[in-house]
Amino acid sequence: MAQYVGAIDQGTTSTRFMIFDRSGTEIGRHQLEHRQIQPRSGWVEHDAAEIWENTLKTIAVALADTGLAASDLAAIGITNQRETVVLWDSATGTPVAPAIVWQDTRTDYLVAGLDEELLRERTGLPPATYFSAPKIQWLLDHTPGLRDRAVRGEVLFGTVDSWLIWNLTGGALHVTDVTNASRTMLMNLTDLDWDPELLGLFGIPRAMLPEIRSSAEVYGTAGTVLPGVPIAAAIGDQQAALFGQTCFEPGEAKCTYGTGGFLLMNTGTTPVRSSHGLITTVGYRFGDQRPVFALEGSIAACGSAIQWLRDQLGVLDTAGDSETLAGRVDDSAGVCFVPAFSGLFAPYWRPDARAAIVGLSRFHTAAHITRAALEAICYQTRDVVEAMAQDSGTVLDCLQVDGGVTANALCMQLQADILGVPVSRPAVAETTALGAAYAAGLAVGFWASLDDLRANRHEDRRWQPSWTPARRADGITRWRAAIDRSLDWVNL
Ligand code: ADP
Repeated sequence: MAQYVGAIDQGTTSTRFMIFDRSGTEIGRHQLEHRQIQPRSGWVEHDAAEIWENTLKTIAVALADTGLAASDLAAIGITNQRETVVLWDSATGTPVAPAIVWQDTRTDYLVAGLDEELLRERTGLPPATYFSAPKIQWLLDHTPGLRDRAVRGEVLFGTVDSWLIWNLTGGALHVTDVTNASRTMLMNLTDLDWDPELLGLFGIPRAMLPEIRSSAEVYGTAGTVLPGVPIAAAIGDQQAALFGQTCFEPGEAKCTYGTGGFLLMNTGTTPVRSSHGLITTVGYRFGDQRPVFALEGSIAACGSAIQWLRDQLGVLDTAGDSETLAGRVDDSAGVCFVPAFSGLFAPYWRPDARAAIVGLSRFHTAAHITRAALEAICYQTRDVVEAMAQDSGTVLDCLQVDGGVTANALCMQLQADILGVPVSRPAVAETTALGAAYAAGLAVGFWASLDDLRANRHEDRRWQPSWTPARRADGITRWRAAIDRSLDWVNL
């Protein structure tokens, strides 16, 4: 009997294939980065063909490294960067345009005129460049003949889950899962189906859209890539992390610190509408069971602020160096850094906001700016935690964290200090991949119940708040003033 479950984790910066055993322990992995293509300011593209090739390579290398065969896998699950738009030729499988990534702001002129009330009511989402629909519209508007071909079913749309399943099944299945569909801004949260009026609004032909399925069911088998292995889950990366952190009860929440930052709280089987700038989204759905909803606070720039210090400013060799450099100073000495490179998401939703570093004097060094970047990650999270408390009435007594930035112990200490509640990191840091594996494993009976999964969760480290309330209040005041500067910039 197969002893393992595999997960394809197709993230914004890289693709991993990970293999887990029944205890949720990682047995092996392989990971490859792909190009971040930035042809103009505000544009971010991926090559979907490169992503597919990397997916194949990571599967092959992870299996070779562990000495396992396809027959050792009970199932695979897929988790993916959400919202990113892939359009491909239904006959040849070739992408017909670059994939437009969730961070891309080229559609800001399209979203400026959208009806917020209508969109929030239908989709749970505010108008923003972040979501798929305006990106699809942009591609159809700017590529001659594409809309006509899409009407004839010759061009297909998918988020990355859909693109990978189509390829894994040799073009046999054009499906997506309900969590990914809930990020397109085209799915109605009431009936969980494509909304004809929204399709009309964005000029998107129904024929190009995938069928919406649950997050955990056997869609098909992984063709020649992993012969006989069921593809048994597809779930957006943040929802997968919620699942991997075993947040199965209403009120349970997690925060993932990757390229962006994402705090999700399980709100049970009824969608909770936000009046404080959060998103209402589908958390997961198992087969034909009732869907579980979540409130989400999305932060556009989290680890990407550290990437910027490394790649654009050149003050770090590696992201990990941010901890050493920021640790050279006791505090940021009054410097605030708002990393609004792609505008501000929750709870502000201002695509026009721009990054700001304020409070500099001749005294300040790269260490202060780096420390301010780490603090910004934490203040942005605090803004979202506060909105979550107001919308849900639930006050967090501990924040469960995961993602690349949580390797930075100084940043996690600052997070506890700035929030005023403890921060807990699980033993398996790869909760996104783990969540996809859990969903797939449950779908094929590899794990029997949610209790099996809960029993697998172990804490690795916990950070306790150490700041005085006065210091915290002072920091928050400065942060809010810096946010105002970042929002005001557009008016100049
Ligand atoms: P994604 O899934 O979005 O690709 P990951 O969870 O792999 O993201 O995290 C990658 C991000 O984490 C990058 O933006 C990187 O700059 C940041 N990062 C990685 N290690 C550290 C560290 N030690 N300190 C701060 N940031 C880090």
